[in-house]
Amino acid sequence: MKTDLTSRLANGQATRVDLRSDTVTQPTPGMRQAMAQAQVGDDVFAGDPSVNALQEKIADMLGFEAALYMPTGTQSNLCGILSHCQRGDEYIVGQMAHCYRWEGGGAAVFGSVQPQPLTQQDDGSLALADIEAAIKPDDAHFARTRMLALENTWGGKVLPHDYLLAFSAFAKSKGLARHLDGARLFNAAVSQAASLGTSPQTEARRIAQCFDSVSVCFSKGLGAPMGSALCGSRAFIQTAHRWRKMAGGGLRQAGFMAAAASYALDHHIERLGQDHALMQHLAAGLSGIEGLDVQAPQTNILFVDLSGKARDQSAALIAHLKQAGIDITGLYRLRFVTHLDVDKAGIERTIQAVREFFKA
Ligand SMILES: *Cc1c(COP(=O)(O)O)cnc(C)c1O
Repeated sequence: MKTDLTSRLANGQATRVDLRSDTVTQPTPGMRQAMAQAQVGDDVFAGDPSVNALQEKIADMLGFEAALYMPTGTQSNLCGILSHCQRGDEYIVGQMAHCYRWEGGGAAVFGSVQPQPLTQQDDGSLALADIEAAIKPDDAHFARTRMLALENTWGGKVLPHDYLLAFSAFAKSKGLARHLDGARLFNAAVSQAASLGTSPQTEARRIAQCFDSVSVCFSKGLGAPMGSALCGSRAFIQTAHRWRKMAGGGLRQAGFMAAAASYALDHHIERLGQDHALMQHLAAGLSGIEGLDVQAPQTNILFVDLSGKARDQSAALIAHLKQAGIDITGLYRLRFVTHLDVDKAGIERTIQAVREFFKA
């Protein structure tokens, strides 16, 4: 059975199930068509109609005055932080937040902005009491605390909306800027909308409005080949535009990519619910296997820890899955991510392969 699959994989008759990330998707035929037909121009001269349209669309959707198309989410967060903070300022951020831990320390390297990481709560939030204790007094010994950063979704978890409201009011009372790394904002919005019976667009806007700036990725679950947008006030986006140029992000005929992102906003938001449903199916299929601790997923990301006799088996499990044509990552914990290019059959295969490994 296994050899059969291995040979079918080698012959290209079976496709791999790539659960490493929601960034691995191929553009759909509709998206390719939108890209091919895009009107383009030189965006450094603000002359790319597709980029301009995308920027207006995402700013409108999230309720901001302006937005800026960025090549990556990393550059979007970087320019966001550098636009809020000056040299010698600091931002308070989660210990495991992407814009602190996973972006090469860019804000410190390029902006001399000091991060003040705090241990997050299990749901990804920063306890307001912890933030309060970390805010520096106005004294020459200290960096100036200027900005707070959150991430939603974080590790696939949706930050509770009541928390966002409390966080937002707290930050305002302290005079601190609020930045959201919303790489997967629409996953949060779709999940929240499903439980409240509202629309994802309504929820995306409600979440975004708790912040002064929001970075959102088109290249994750939305399925575009690349790109992010940074949203904020007009003055903030003007500052960010300057930083983007310095960061090497002044793009020319970027409209081909912006058209893909626009297409994703029109066609790929609601369907994120399918990724979430597949993830529920995967989690259910993996639960009850001895040695596997399966976190209950909220959106499209599942973390799994190995325990007991299986504790040191993560490299072996990853290798076993690879043989079976399934790719996952295991940097801190085993991670499975669903997306546009994963279907029910792929998830069934994954469940079967994991069960086979544990002889469960
Ligand atoms: C992927 C990701 C980013 C960065 O996006 P890139 O386009 O890979 O630079 C930022 N934040 C979060 C939470 C992400 O998942």
